[in-house]
Amino acid sequence: MNAGAGSQNLGDEIRAIIESEGPIGFDRFMSLALGHPRYGYYITRDPFGLDGDFTTAPEISQMFGELIGLWSAEVWTSMGEPPEINLVELGPGRGTLMRDALRALHIVEPFARAIRVHLVETSPVLRARQQGTLEGCGSPVVWHDRFEDVPRGPSIIIANEFFDALPVRHFVRTDRGWFERLVGLDENGPPGKFRFGLAPEPEPFIRAEAEIGAVLEIGAAGHRALSEIATRLSEDIGAALIIDYGHTETSFGETLQAMQHHMKADPLEDPGSADITAHVDFASLSRAAKAAAAETHGPVAQGDFLTSLGIFERAAGLKKRADPRQSIDIDRSLLRLVSKGREMGIDGKMTPSMGALFKVLAVTSPGLYPPGFESVQGERQ
Ligand code: SAH
Repeated sequence: MNAGAGSQNLGDEIRAIIESEGPIGFDRFMSLALGHPRYGYYITRDPFGLDGDFTTAPEISQMFGELIGLWSAEVWTSMGEPPEINLVELGPGRGTLMRDALRALHIVEPFARAIRVHLVETSPVLRARQQGTLEGCGSPVVWHDRFEDVPRGPSIIIANEFFDALPVRHFVRTDRGWFERLVGLDENGPPGKFRFGLAPEPEPFIRAEAEIGAVLEIGAAGHRALSEIATRLSEDIGAALIIDYGHTETSFGETLQAMQHHMKADPLEDPGSADITAHVDFASLSRAAKAAAAETHGPVAQGDFLTSLGIFERAAGLKKRADPRQSIDIDRSLLRLVSKGREMGIDGKMTPSMGALFKVLAVTSPGLYPPGFESVQGERQ
C-alpha cells in the first residue's frame, strides 16, 4: 500500500488512495473494507452472534456442524478410505462448525485418525478464536492464509458463508455500453464522503444485452477460488461443500448487503465497520468447476440438504436428553435452518428463512457421489 501513512482509520486510507490514483473498483473497496491488514472488518473483530453483526448456521445449532461431519465421513468412505485426508475449512469463523463436525465424526474411528485439519483464515482475531475452540479436538490443526498453501492429497473442503465475503465488481449498462461502477469521493456532499460513479470508458469485453440501468455483478475472486479448488479436485481425489446464500441462475441485479448490529447499513459509510457480502452466483461457480474438469452436485436448498442428512432425526435424538426449555431451543433452531418460509429478523422485519435462501453445492473429483443431493438426482450434468 503506497498511501495512508499516518492515517487514523480505513476511511482515511481509502480517501488517500483515491486522491492519488483516482476512483477505485468496488472489488478493491470491498477487499480493503473486509481484509485490510490493519483496519479490515474481519481482521479486527469477531463479528458473530447476538452482540455482533450477524449469525451463521453453525452458531445457530450444533446440529449443522455435526451433520457436515457425518457427511464428510460418508464421502471419505466413498473415496476408498484414504489413510490420510485433509479436512479443510475456508473461513472457519469461530471454529464452531469444525468442532461440532469433529465431535460427531469420531464415531467413525478410522476416519477420525486419518484427519489432518487445515484452516484457511486471514483474520488473526478469528484464528485465535478458532485455536481456543479447537483445543483438545484430537486432530492436528494447521492454519494457512490461502487455499493454495494447503498440502496436496485427498481432501474434503468445507466453506460456509465464505464465498459471499469475496469481493465483487459491478458494471452498469448505459446507452454507450457497460461501464464499471467505481468508488470515488463525493465532491458535492460532506467532505470525504464516498460515492459511486462510473468509469470514464466502457468495458468492451462485456457484451450482454440488458436494459439501460441494469447492473451486472461479477464475483471474480469467488470464481478464482472455486477454480483453484476444482483444479485440485480434478488432480487429487476429494470433495468440496459450498454453502452460501445466493441464486441458482445468473441474472442481472446487484445483491450487495452491508450489515452492522443485525441491521442493514450503507456499504460506503465508514468502511471496515460493517460486514459487506454479495449473493453467490452458483451457476457461475458450477461453470468454473466444470471448466476445471471437476463434477458438481446441486445446488440444492439448505433445508432439503439438511433434511436429507437427517436433521429431524438428530433433533429428535437431542430432545430426548433435553429439558423443556432446551427442547424449545432445539425446535426453534431446527426451524431456522430448514424452514423455507419467512421469519422475523432481529430488526423486526420479515426476511426469507435460511432453508430456502441458502444453497448447497458440492464439487467433486469425477465419479464421487456425495450424500444430500437426492432432491436433484437425475438433473446432474
Ligand atoms: N464459516 C464461518 C464464518 C463465516 S464469515 C461460519 O459459518 O460461522 C467469513 C469467514 O471467512 C471469516 O472467518 C473471515 O475471517 C474469513 N475470510 C474472509 N475473507 C477471507 C479470505 N479472503 N481468505 C480467508 N478467509 C477469509
